[in-house]
Amino acid sequence: MLPTRFSTWQNTRMTTEIHHLTVSGIKVEVLRKDIKNLHLGVYPPHGRVRVAAPLVVSDEAVRLAVIDKLGWIKRQKAKFADQPRQSQREMVNGESHYFLGQRYRMRVHEHDGPARVALRGVSTLDLFVRPGSSAEQREAVLLRWHREQLKALIPPLLERWQPILDVQVADWGIKKMKTKWGSCNPVARRVWFNLELAKKPVLCLEYIVVHELVHLLERHHDERFMVLMDKHIPQWRVYRKMLIVTPLGHEDWDY
Ligand SMILES: [Zn+2]
Repeated sequence: MLPTRFSTWQNTRMTTEIHHLTVSGIKVEVLRKDIKNLHLGVYPPHGRVRVAAPLVVSDEAVRLAVIDKLGWIKRQKAKFADQPRQSQREMVNGESHYFLGQRYRMRVHEHDGPARVALRGVSTLDLFVRPGSSAEQREAVLLRWHREQLKALIPPLLERWQPILDVQVADWGIKKMKTKWGSCNPVARRVWFNLELAKKPVLCLEYIVVHELVHLLERHHDERFMVLMDKHIPQWRVYRKMLIVTPLGHEDWDY
């Protein structure tokens, strides 16, 4: 992907000087060089903001220029924030994919039979797809498999923990969620688990199961909630940390 605005500072010379400003909470890289006009750019993959400014332009003037374009900058940054999830996975041979906390190398096999996924040894994930399948179709096969695996893993965890906590869910399911690992509606006694949990160690999945079940006893993350968590799953902070290490929506960490 090309920069949003292409400028001449690619030919950076030794005379340039780089420093950083923070404008309205946005970090701005400022490059001073012998040019006539001020250039402003927002760059992939993470929406880095860069200003190339003539030597005579003050930081205050740079700040004002950035503020003037704040709406545009925020729109560009939001675009980059949305894009990587779809565009980063090509679903090709050699790509790394995580399942239950283990890293696997993907091998893609094109065949005419039904699409499926199989693990081979400790480090290979075989993806069987139809010839000519797109990255989206391949990803759909993998996600369907993730869902099937979670559907098999979650019931035994519910069966283990419901009697311990003396609660009973009326319904549960798996879905894609952008900001949560799980959610609970205590009135309907319905819990949801994030499909992404299939990539995490089983202990993390168990922690989320317990967390959501505890919400049937206590809706809020208050002291009572923490006491219940500490009592039943004393290591829960460790598992939470394991989840935080690879936050949701950030998927360029395993290359
Ligand atoms: Zn919660």
